[in-house]
This record gives sequence, structure tokens and C-alpha cells, in this order.
Amino acid sequence: MEVFSDVVCPFCGCLCDDLEITVENNKIIKTKNSCAISLSKFMHHEDNRLNYPTVDGRRTDLVEAINESAKILASAKRPLIYGLSSTECEAINRSIELAELIGGVIDSTASVCHGPTIITEQSIGLIKSTLGEIKNRADLIIFWGSNPTESHLRHLTRYSMFPTGLFTPEGRKNRFIVAVDVRKTKLSRIVDLFLEIEPNKDFELISALRAIVRGVKIEAEQVSGIPINILKELAERMKKARFGVVFYGLGLTQSEMGDMNVNAAVGLVSDLNHHTKFVILPMRGHFNVAGANTVSSWLSGYPFAIDYSRGYSRYNPGEFTAVDLLERKEADAALIIASDPVAHFPASAVEHLTKIPLITIDQKVNMTTLLSRIVIPAATVGIEADGTAYRMDGIPIRLKKIIEPSEGILPDSEILKMMIDKIRVLKGGY
Ligand code: SF4
Repeated sequence: MEVFSDVVCPFCGCLCDDLEITVENNKIIKTKNSCAISLSKFMHHEDNRLNYPTVDGRRTDLVEAINESAKILASAKRPLIYGLSSTECEAINRSIELAELIGGVIDSTASVCHGPTIITEQSIGLIKSTLGEIKNRADLIIFWGSNPTESHLRHLTRYSMFPTGLFTPEGRKNRFIVAVDVRKTKLSRIVDLFLEIEPNKDFELISALRAIVRGVKIEAEQVSGIPINILKELAERMKKARFGVVFYGLGLTQSEMGDMNVNAAVGLVSDLNHHTKFVILPMRGHFNVAGANTVSSWLSGYPFAIDYSRGYSRYNPGEFTAVDLLERKEADAALIIASDPVAHFPASAVEHLTKIPLITIDQKVNMTTLLSRIVIPAATVGIEADGTAYRMDGIPIRLKKIIEPSEGILPDSEILKMMIDKIRVLKGGY
């Protein structure tokens, strides 16, 4: 029996790094410090596994699956590579290399979640801090369109609402917590102030708060369903906070005018910095979606939605994003890495995916593997393979390998390297 300490959880953007995992005979038998999701990830990582590669539904070996994939990708005119948010940075690195080699389009799941955040970050920047600073300093925390009690289970206890810190020695008692959402949630029941706003009215509410913070008189009695006196009290509290933070989720980025909402929220935080210290952080979902954008930015200059068809990187969300490419029926082959677009994309995009050669590298059976021409099983990073991932605040953290994968099952990065080597041969050593 072996006990691994300081294990990092490879599930959500919190990347909790204090897990203790007990292993016996290469099996995980116990976890400590896990939340319910993490417990399930570690204890059930063998459920629904892909155990061998398939081509056209026929069992095959890795070499044939790689060779067939390489032939499809090397001969495609407009290949798409998509996914990347639940794999290690080393695999993301290889994916960009592959996209450049085949002149393809590469996009990550960020394009259907925090794309507006990334676009805002590029255009006006984000005023950010680490989760450690927030734990130690924040005395006013606002969750906007985000419900960590369902999505990031240990966020409240490790980083935001409850932990004690250097300047927050009494933990929860030192903090005023606000939730803004369109409906009551588990979070709304435990915060100090809950603003139940009308759907798709975030921009108006943020703009009203900005106006009040700037000293503008508002004549309306309510904005987005919230009485103006409550907004005035909140604005005053924000200005007087010692260290404030806005954590926002898909409720802000994926409601109407998502990019304008994020832009306005960053503007509000910027205005508040004339009075006090205030930061804003996206609640990134998948454990390495931040890494997908970061690694891609180093290598191509752009965070997602990148086209290499001209031999150099071009960036255009809305044109080179996976859903748009598929809806225009442009892609003639697709490689999906650690993602399940068939379960999440609009029907029109999925319909085109079913009509082109589809290759999927994943650990488990999902809707996309069921429709794929070629399926290649992969090792689970953070359990069966090591690698690097970026936490939601941009801190890189090393994931540990704690057990051996089944024989012949390789990490995504190694599978991609084999594919790249084969394509180079097919292209005459290019
Ligand atoms: S909060 Fe997220 S990273 Fe932390 S243990 Fe739970 S699933 Fe894992």
C-alpha cells in the first residue's frame, strides 16, 4: 500500500493540490480531502474506459490507429483539431505543432465558455490576482453568474468564502459575500446579499453600478429588477472594501451580449480601483482550459480559434471557432482531444461532424467516441500520467502520476507525437 500526498485533482479549474490518495496493487482504494466530484474522478476512473483503439468499430492496435489517423489528417484540406481543456500542457503543445504541420484550424473548449473573457483580456486586460492573495486578503467577494456549490465544490472552503488568511484571521466572519444570479441557488442561501436579477440584464446592472461608483445620479427606481437603494449600498460597500473580488462564470459570459458583460465588469473593477483594491477572476471550468489558452498563446500568438491554412497563425473567433467552422461545413476531417463536442455542440455543428472522418483521443466512452471513425484510448493525466496544468488564476501546477495505465495506453502527448512523426513521413519528411 502506498499513500501519495499533495496530489493535484485533475477535474476543475481549482486544481486543489492537497489530496491524499492511497494506492494498493495499482488500484486507488482511498482518497482524502476530495470533494464529491474529485472522489468520483479518482475512485471511478476505470469506469467506461476505452480499452483498445478502434478503426471503423473494429478493434485494432495503436500503430494502425495512428497510421490511419495520420493518413486522414495529412490528406485533409481543412482539418479541425478541437478540445484540449482536459489534457496536459505537453499535449496542447503537440496539438499546436500538429495543426501547423497539417495547415489546420485548432480551437479549444474556451470558445464555448470563457471566449468573451479571453477577448476582453486581449482588448483591455483583466485586473487579476492569485487565489492565494484572495484567500489572505479579500473581505468582499462577489459571485456573478457562478455557483461554485455545484461547479467548483472546494472553491468556497479553500480560496474564497471560508478559509482563514493572513488578513482574514476569522475566515467567513471577515468577509461579506454577494451572489448575483437569475435564480436562487445553494450559494444564494449562504451569502450575505443575493441579487436575483432579470435574465440577460447583467450589462444594465453592471452599468448602473459603474454609474453609482462614479457619482452619477440614477433616477430609475430599479435596474434589472434590483431596487436602486440596494445598488447604492452595494456600490458604497465595494468602494470601502479593503480587497474586493468579482468571480464570474458562464452566467455572465454566455448570457446575451457575453463579451459586453465581461467588458463592463472589467470596467467596474477598473473604476473601483480608484477607491480601493479590486480584482476580477473568471471561474474557469475544466482543469486545464486556462492552460489551453496559455500554451496556445505562447506558441501561436493567439489563445483559441487559430487557422494555420496559410502556413502561419491567424486568429478570428466567429470564423475559426469550431462551431462556426462546422456549421459552415468547411471542416473535412476532425481530431478531438479530451472533449465531447457531440454532447455539447449545436445540432447543426454535430450533424457535420457525423459526415466527416472523425478521430477521437479520449480516456472514456462518450457521445463523440461513439460517432468516431477512429478512437484512440489515452491515459488519464493526473492519475496515470504526469503533466502540467494551469489553475484558474494562471498558476501552473504539476500533476502527478500515481498509478500505471493499462498496457499499451499512452498519454495524449505521446499519442500526438506518434501522429506527428507519421504525418511528417507521409509528407516526405517535412
Ligand atoms: S474543487 Fe475541483 S479541483 Fe478541487 S477537489 Fe473538487 S473537483 Fe477537484
